[in-house]
Amino acid sequence: MSFTGKTAAVTGGSRGIGRAVCLELARRGANVAFSYAGNTAAAEETKRELEALGVQVRAVRGDVSDPAAAKALIDAAVKELGGLHILVNNAGITRDNLAMVMKDEDFDAVIATNLKGAFLTMRAAARPMMKARYGRIINLSSVVALRGNPGQINYCASKAGLIGMTKSLAKELGGRGVTVNAVAPGYIATDMTAALPDAARQAMLAAIPAGRAGTPEDVAAAVAFLASDEAGYITGQVLQVDGGMGM
Ligand code: NDP
Repeated sequence: MSFTGKTAAVTGGSRGIGRAVCLELARRGANVAFSYAGNTAAAEETKRELEALGVQVRAVRGDVSDPAAAKALIDAAVKELGGLHILVNNAGITRDNLAMVMKDEDFDAVIATNLKGAFLTMRAAARPMMKARYGRIINLSSVVALRGNPGQINYCASKAGLIGMTKSLAKELGGRGVTVNAVAPGYIATDMTAALPDAARQAMLAAIPAGRAGTPEDVAAAVAFLASDEAGYITGQVLQVDGGMGM
């Protein structure tokens, strides 16, 4: 799989899975524009690592749930890096609590970032991709979208909504050479899961047939496959990258 001559836009590329995705695509030759919320030190480190691979990079600070920020990321790819071939909607947050006591603002924040942010970015990407009659869109969902999870009613709703959006856009853009797929990771070792209580992490580990947590690189490999020319006849699918956890 080669991405030489291609440009990718990745939301939330400064850390975790997003950073691994940026690095995997760049290692295979893609120029990369990525966004981040506010962690400038992490974004600068990711930018340095990407540039060391010899590709062109743009780091765009902005809240993915802001339409102007979504457009700024897509513009950075199209106007500064020569096009938009791949979009990875990865930016995501959690604000966990039991439904009974969940605050309105925690429900709204998760939907705004995880679901609306992906919509805004896909909307901005649709025109250049349709015009080019080529595109690969990959949305980061989660196994909990398919199974539910106590304490994550907001997060599960956002990740299940992403699957609905994936399939809808796959149908809208299928005739224009644009594929839209979702990746559903299980338990991946990142800052997001490091924040979980120890008991919750042990319970998740015990439920993984592969016997280990996943790595950001495990997820990035699946994203790269769906972003490749070789995956051109796969669209509207949800690929679980979870060591068997979600079976
Ligand atoms: P991290 O918390 O490690 O990283 C999140 C990234 O998203 C950071 O780059 C962060 O930027 C960025 N971000 C957060 N909010 C915004 C925003 N409003 N606008 C722009 N960027 C934002 O998360 P992970 O790497 O663990 O997760 C990546 C994706 O994978 C998420 O969508 C998550 O839901 C999903 N996922 C993760 C799993 C896991 O086990 N880790 C399992 C299943 C799905 P900054 O550095 O500036 O804060």
